[in-house]
Amino acid sequence: MTEALLRWFRREGRDLPWRRTTDPYAVWISEVMLQQTQVQTVIPFWERWMAAFPNVTVLARAPLRRVLKLWEGLGYYSRARHLHQAARIIVQEHQGAFPDDYDAILSLPGIGRYTAGAICSIAFDQPRPILDGNIIRVLTRLHGIGGDAKTGPVNRKLWELAQGWVEMAHRCRSDRPCAALNQALMELGATLCRPKQPVCEACPVQPRCVAWRTGRIAHYPQVAPRPAITQRQFVAFVPAHRERLLVWRRPAGVVNGQLWEFPNVEITDLPKPDLAKLARTCCGAKPTLLEPLCTLVHSITRYRIRIRAYRVILPRKPAGARRESRWGTVQQLEQLAFPSAHRRIFTAFQQSVAPRAALLRGSRATAGTGTQLPDAVIDVKHA
Ligand code: SF4
Repeated sequence: MTEALLRWFRREGRDLPWRRTTDPYAVWISEVMLQQTQVQTVIPFWERWMAAFPNVTVLARAPLRRVLKLWEGLGYYSRARHLHQAARIIVQEHQGAFPDDYDAILSLPGIGRYTAGAICSIAFDQPRPILDGNIIRVLTRLHGIGGDAKTGPVNRKLWELAQGWVEMAHRCRSDRPCAALNQALMELGATLCRPKQPVCEACPVQPRCVAWRTGRIAHYPQVAPRPAITQRQFVAFVPAHRERLLVWRRPAGVVNGQLWEFPNVEITDLPKPDLAKLARTCCGAKPTLLEPLCTLVHSITRYRIRIRAYRVILPRKPAGARRESRWGTVQQLEQLAFPSAHRRIFTAFQQSVAPRAALLRGSRATAGTGTQLPDAVIDVKHA
């Protein structure tokens, strides 16, 4: 089975950019980006990252704000912060050379058993197992293993099986067999042994697959039910004054810490909130214009979050801020890293002012660029 799987992977494995290298740094970046994110989404991010930070030393020297900016759009920003911290540790403690020792790798921030195993096997061809959602699906079906696959004894059993597979590969006379075996298991789960409608007729291990032989594919894997979804409601404001917009910086140590966002507040037990009052509280001054901009819904872990965003014009910049904030033109704020929801609000704002800018440019040659229009919004409204 091991040799059949290795042959299949060498023949059918996708040509992904990080598979063309054995550089542990490049493998590490790809494995961290691929957590919670689809391969096709990761490819341009990985390429941009490798162009900007081609090695550990460059990453370690980069300011965190630049690291977060390059991560913008991938979400789960703690991953980027951990990459940055780990790069600094590698430079300080390993003179910039990526360690090849499993325990040394595992001790780095943000690196767990899966990522350490992936780096050791893919970059250094060591017989270290990996177990992610794709491999859990393959192994539970192939070996007919029921019970909660994500925790407890069943999970331990799956790690043992993954270890057995990679040790078996290690004995094969093949080029870099441990690297190929772990990637083959991942590839099988991603391309053939899919959650729904697996392509068993093309599967290299089909003759030995318990789930296929017993017709119980849908029975595996078994996982505990997900926690119930919690709905949360927010309102956000895009406050403008004289071609500048106000943003806040989230504090360190919270979700999306140190990223920038528009002033916002969570709405609880208020079916019809007093928007003008909320805007005044959030923005620090009574608005002269308050109008709907967009509504968006997004999910973070078990939270389903609905944000209603409003465009706000302030007659003056409020004195004193109760948290770290910044006024900037659209072009200046483009340099900052936003969580994805607030990036979408920012994009909606720019799209909403662009047609007004064109209108204004047609009637008044001095309007400036289309993305510097908070004041122009007032002009158009009053025109
Ligand atoms: Fe998955 Fe089907 Fe292959 Fe079994 S035969 S491992 S269910 S793709």
